[in-house]
Amino acid sequence: MKILPLPLFAALAASIFTVLTGRAAEDPADVVVLNGKVITMDGSSSVAEAVAIRGGRFVYVGNNAGANAHIGITTRVLNARGKSVLPGLIESHTHAIGVARGEADQPFRQLSSMTEISEWVRQKAAITKPGTWIRIPRVDLTRFKEARFPTREELDAMVSDRPVVFDWMYAGINQVQILNTAALKAAGITRDSPNPEQGRIVRDNQGNPTGMIRNARALIEPYLPPAPTLTPEMLLKELENVHRHYNSVGITSINDRRTDPSTFQVYNELKKQGRLNVRSTLTIGIGYQGIGNALNQIKSLPLKPGEGDEWVKAGALKLRIDGGLLYGTAYLREPYLAAGSARYYDLPDATNRGELMTPKSDILAIIRAGHLAGWQMSSHVAGDAGVDAVLEALETIERESPISGRRYNLIHAYLPNPETVQRAKKLGVVVDTQPMWYYKDGDALIDTIGQERGNHMIGLRDWLKGGVKVTINADHMQGVDPDRALNPYNPFLAMYVAISRKTESGRIHGEDQKVSREEALRMVTIDAAYLTFDEKNTGSIEVGKLGDLAILAEDFMTCSEEQIKGMKVAATVVGGRIVHLQEQP
Ligand SMILES: [Zn+2]
Repeated sequence: MKILPLPLFAALAASIFTVLTGRAAEDPADVVVLNGKVITMDGSSSVAEAVAIRGGRFVYVGNNAGANAHIGITTRVLNARGKSVLPGLIESHTHAIGVARGEADQPFRQLSSMTEISEWVRQKAAITKPGTWIRIPRVDLTRFKEARFPTREELDAMVSDRPVVFDWMYAGINQVQILNTAALKAAGITRDSPNPEQGRIVRDNQGNPTGMIRNARALIEPYLPPAPTLTPEMLLKELENVHRHYNSVGITSINDRRTDPSTFQVYNELKKQGRLNVRSTLTIGIGYQGIGNALNQIKSLPLKPGEGDEWVKAGALKLRIDGGLLYGTAYLREPYLAAGSARYYDLPDATNRGELMTPKSDILAIIRAGHLAGWQMSSHVAGDAGVDAVLEALETIERESPISGRRYNLIHAYLPNPETVQRAKKLGVVVDTQPMWYYKDGDALIDTIGQERGNHMIGLRDWLKGGVKVTINADHMQGVDPDRALNPYNPFLAMYVAISRKTESGRIHGEDQKVSREEALRMVTIDAAYLTFDEKNTGSIEVGKLGDLAILAEDFMTCSEEQIKGMKVAATVVGGRIVHLQEQP
């Protein structure tokens, strides 16, 4: 049985109801879901059959007969056909506004081999004016067949008559760009060019530039095509489109993880125009250019902690502690392995263990300032030594003025160990981490961090064992396809990885890190709500809570493990509004 087209089914349901009772509900619900296995995620793990939503909130959770009493002539009735109904899913770490801007600039394509890059560059050249620089979309070497940077000669072979750049700009302190010959020429980089401060023009043994520049992006920035100027409406449209894609996979709330006060205006405008279909908590990025500047950013924020409503609200402040495992810049207790490091980071240095991007004393000062101003504080911190630095700061602050209850966040924290887990638990810290980096990059990263650390990479069981709350998410940055974006933000894929502990190739590193289906579900519902202080409103299906849910095409609890990753969402409801309905075949 399919979901019937709504008006038809609504009419049918209403008439069945009329036959049963002879009258329509006096105060009809806006939406009723019947015949479901409603996994409520309430405190007692109860499963219901039907729900009713009125005025944006659940007014009934129970059986079909009870829900029927809420159906009136205007009620839209959805038939769950015996499949799972979940609380609206919460994507607790995404970059929706960044994706919106990026797509307007240059739609993302995941390029997985030199051949794919070559095809993409040639196609781009065909539609680009001569002289305009071609910037290859982000390629992470851990997801790249050749697992190394392209050479200048390879880029020349793709297109020689215009500048091309392979732009590895995401690497923090290990930035690399590869230029083709035309790009070197256009940027005026020759054997006589001096190295910029703290950066390097890599040269061959004759002293000629090889095409690689390191930490020297400033040399080419003036020549790169500027991001297009978007009218406010263009940006709203792009953002709305990103949100629409989220709705299609059951997402009803997001935590946009690096925004600024101007992003608030964009979200509020969408809300005002009735076009906001995901509840959005906005994390505010605090950039680090010295301690004075950082403290000033906090002091001059035109927003108050938690300001907003159930649609748009101010979330945590976020600081950046280190880089990433994909670039050899996550700050580790023990060095990266030399062989893998040479291969994936082009850093053949057996002592490299990344480094802090913010000095320890400044980490303390910034978190303390945010804490005293009433903000929830979150830290981008990938490596285990980076986590040590954050926890040390939090412990110091805890002694001065308690932080437990403030739910401070460790973002990424890829390499848990028992001592870290214990300290995090004591401080009431919540972890926001991404199975997708494990899924996509885990096999390659075994070469850079070794099998033992790999077995604990994004070790969900390690955190759970110590009683630390964990949320899983995508860190979605580019592209809009749920399964091909960077990172894929299909929450069922994230849950599949958490449950199966499989990488994309099917390998398993750290079998004992697997979690149950219900545990995975917690991490995208009630515990994700907890991260943003929303657990009284979202994250479970209970009377009085906001009417957000997703109806699946299968039974989440009993379908095969492999079916989970391709799970389709039949319908998504936010605050009693149907925002996604799978197309009828
Ligand atoms: Zn992120």
